[in-house]
Amino acid sequence: MTEKKLTKKQVDSLKKKLLEENQRLIFNGMNNEEFAYSSEERSDEVDQANADFSNSQRLRFRNREVFYAKKINEALKRIEKEEYGQCVDCGANIKFERLLARPTADLCIYCKEESERDESLNFVARQSKSLGKSINLVGAL
Ligand SMILES: [Zn+2]
Repeated sequence: MTEKKLTKKQVDSLKKKLLEENQRLIFNGMNNEEFAYSSEERSDEVDQANADFSNSQRLRFRNREVFYAKKINEALKRIEKEEYGQCVDCGANIKFERLLARPTADLCIYCKEESERDESLNFVARQSKSLGKSINLVGAL
């Protein structure tokens, strides 16, 4: 089953979505920095521990945003090169509905499922390695 190539109009609407997401991330980034400044005024130890905790939470959230921002930029670059909407793995056209839900998608649904299956296989393999050979791998799969 092959999907149709995206129309110019579809690419434009997805590009708009990507740019909006990008703006939102930049805006959040600025808010985070303000937050970081004000938290330095704290002196109480308990407060400090709480601040450390929320800092690490925020950092994790921030890392995810940085990762997402990178994905957005990659998608925008693919639009420039007119490669957007094509699976980077097999070159198939990615379904418009899939891109609407996830404008940064760079794999078609089949390759995506495949890579997720690989990941879970690796996970099982890693687990069985650490737990020894008593695990019945056939049963787990
Ligand atoms: Zn593919």
